[in-house]
Amino acid sequence: MQIERLVTGIYAANCYIVHGGELNEAMVVDPGGNVKDIVGYLQKRKLKAKKIVLTHGHLDHIGAAEELRRITNAEILIHKKDAYMLHDAERNMSAMSGGDNISFHEDGLLKDGDTIRVDGINAVVIHTPGHSAGGICLKIEDALFSGDTLFRGSIGRTDLDKGSMGTLMSSIMDKLMIFPDDTRVFPGHGPETTIGIERKSNPFILQMRK
Ligand SMILES: [Zn+2]
Ligand SMILES: [Zn+2]
Repeated sequence: MQIERLVTGIYAANCYIVHGGELNEAMVVDPGGNVKDIVGYLQKRKLKAKKIVLTHGHLDHIGAAEELRRITNAEILIHKKDAYMLHDAERNMSAMSGGDNISFHEDGLLKDGDTIRVDGINAVVIHTPGHSAGGICLKIEDALFSGDTLFRGSIGRTDLDKGSMGTLMSSIMDKLMIFPDDTRVFPGHGPETTIGIERKSNPFILQMRK
């Protein structure tokens, strides 16, 4: 499995392109913007994007999804509880961003435990509400794509629509901290980390132990 990180959009969200199978097909996680860079990477590697998976419905993670779908014909997938945000520029906050209004429809809905398959890559959907109602993480082999649920040394904000600190901490402790220390974590913003590093040093997680 190969994982390419592209930093996209005005909020510097991480877009991940996951590939490595025999068919040269790719899964794109959170195309937040810079569609030309994403398409450029796909073309350089002769990859065909098949699925666009959105960890949640905030503008900084979805900004290039519709155009990427138009160019590649890939399917857009999001958890059923965050789909409403895609349909409405107020709900995904693009209406307040000063940029283009974003609104489009998904091709499929996800729920906890689903497996998204692309060219030998099996991504298991983990519903991790708290930052938003339908936020998800994706587990692929030893890699965890954590969206805005877990960051290196921090966690997602909980003051937005349907956010909840208690729910977010339960998601992190009950659904992510169960993985082994060497699990690689690829967050929605900022650098890569591991479950072990976060277990030892993330102040929000350490506080839960007290
Ligand atoms: Zn977010
Ligand atoms: Zn974000």
